[in-house]
Amino acid sequence: MADNEQSRAILDQISSQIMKCRRCPLWEEATHGVPGEGSLCARVMFIGEAPGEQEDSLGRPFVGRAGKVLDSLLTGTGLSRDAVFIANIVKHRPPGNRDPLPDEVTACTPWLEQQINTIRPPLLVPLGRHATRYVLGRMGVEFVKITDISGTVFEGEPFGFPQKIIPALHPAATLHNPRSREHLEEDFRRIGNLLTEMEQ
Ligand code: SF4
Repeated sequence: MADNEQSRAILDQISSQIMKCRRCPLWEEATHGVPGEGSLCARVMFIGEAPGEQEDSLGRPFVGRAGKVLDSLLTGTGLSRDAVFIANIVKHRPPGNRDPLPDEVTACTPWLEQQINTIRPPLLVPLGRHATRYVLGRMGVEFVKITDISGTVFEGEPFGFPQKIIPALHPAATLHNPRSREHLEEDFRRIGNLLTEMEQ
C-alpha cells in the first residue's frame, strides 16, 4: 500500500478529476460532485448510492437526514466518521433523487474502484440495494431483496485483493419506514462484531 502522503495525493487527484468528470449527464444538473471523504487508513468503507440534495449542496457525503441516521449507527458501533471512509457509487446527484441508471453506474464506478484500490479497506459495507448489487455483482453474487442478505458476511476479491463485505440497509430506509431501524441496527451490530473479530 502506498504511504499516507502518496495515498492522500492520489485521493485528492481522483476527487479533482471527479469534479471535472463528464462521463455521464448527471453533472449537468448537479451543484457539486461528491467524491467521498474519510480516513486514508480506514478499515471499513461505507458505500452509498448517490448524493441527495444536502450532499449536492455541500459536496460532502451523507450530511442530510440519512447522514444523521448513519452517524448515530456509527456511534452505536463505536466508530467515528474520522475512522471510516464514506463514498457513493455515483458521484453527482441524480435529478430529483431518482435511482441512478445502469449506464450512470457503469460510467461512474471506476472512480469508486480507484478509491477502494487506494485505501484498500479490509471491510466494505455497501448500503442499500444499488451499492450492494454493484459490489456483490463483481463477485458473481446475485440477490433478489436487500433484506434477504443484509447483515450477511461475504468474503472475496471484488476489487482484486481479499475483503469481507457486509451489505446493510440504506439509512434512508428508516426515513420512509421507521420499522427498518431495528433491521439496520442489527446490521450494524454485526458490522461491529465482525470488526472486533478482525482485530483479534
Ligand atoms: S456521476 Fe460520475 S460518471 Fe457521471 S459525471 Fe459525475 S463523476 Fe462522472
